[in-house]
Amino acid sequence: MLSASATYENVVRNGASSICQINKASFSGSSKDDNDVAKALYQRQRSRLGEFEQIKGNMRCPYCGVNHANQLDHYLPKADYQYLSVTPLNLIPCCQRCNGVKRATAFTAQQAETVLFNPYIEDFDDERWLTVSIAETPTEKGKLPAFIFSVTAVKPSGWSKEKFERLRHSFSTLKISEQYSELWVDDCNSWSTSFCELWDKYRDKKNPARKILKRKYKYCDDYGNKNYYQKWALKAALKSDWFCYESMPKWLGISQ
Ligand SMILES: [Zn+2]
Repeated sequence: MLSASATYENVVRNGASSICQINKASFSGSSKDDNDVAKALYQRQRSRLGEFEQIKGNMRCPYCGVNHANQLDHYLPKADYQYLSVTPLNLIPCCQRCNGVKRATAFTAQQAETVLFNPYIEDFDDERWLTVSIAETPTEKGKLPAFIFSVTAVKPSGWSKEKFERLRHSFSTLKISEQYSELWVDDCNSWSTSFCELWDKYRDKKNPARKILKRKYKYCDDYGNKNYYQKWALKAALKSDWFCYESMPKWLGISQ
């Protein structure tokens, strides 16, 4: 297991094209007994992962960049790569949701472009790539219009094509768009009462919606994340005349 661990570390550091050529047989036992030993070691070490409790709640999930990390993901699944079940570089602290979504997706990368990014050795937040658009469809009273979160169509200039493809693949595999949409609806619901109060305060101003959104944007903490969904959603809302003049008052139930 030690040599499998060392080999894996080299493979990971060599990049995505090495990861997709990984030979499963080198990272699992040749008999059921071998794999049972690996499983027992994992179970024993797992109970020691109590130290992980200390970072719980303080660290954000590197996959979504939003939720708190409260689980450990096996980057290469322990069911197929038993010898990597306790390899530190294969254990990624992440949130329950991303872990669940990822677990449901088999690791079948055949080419570098479909290798999920590995947060230990790669930074996919060194450039901005998140875009947000608003579906300008007639808004019903009390309803927020759909905000659509996606990866920019234009590759960041300092990135290779492979890195950009891998981001797009990771974004869709981890269902990040759906997650940001759900989080955004929750955010807006939790803000609506204070937005209504502020609307009353700014009622006589030229554009109360923009004043409220600007204020929210100003105090929005992005945790140093260049692709923080809340900031870009607020920016998209601020830029849209349609949202500010038509949709937002309807959503908040403001009579004008
Ligand atoms: Zn996550």
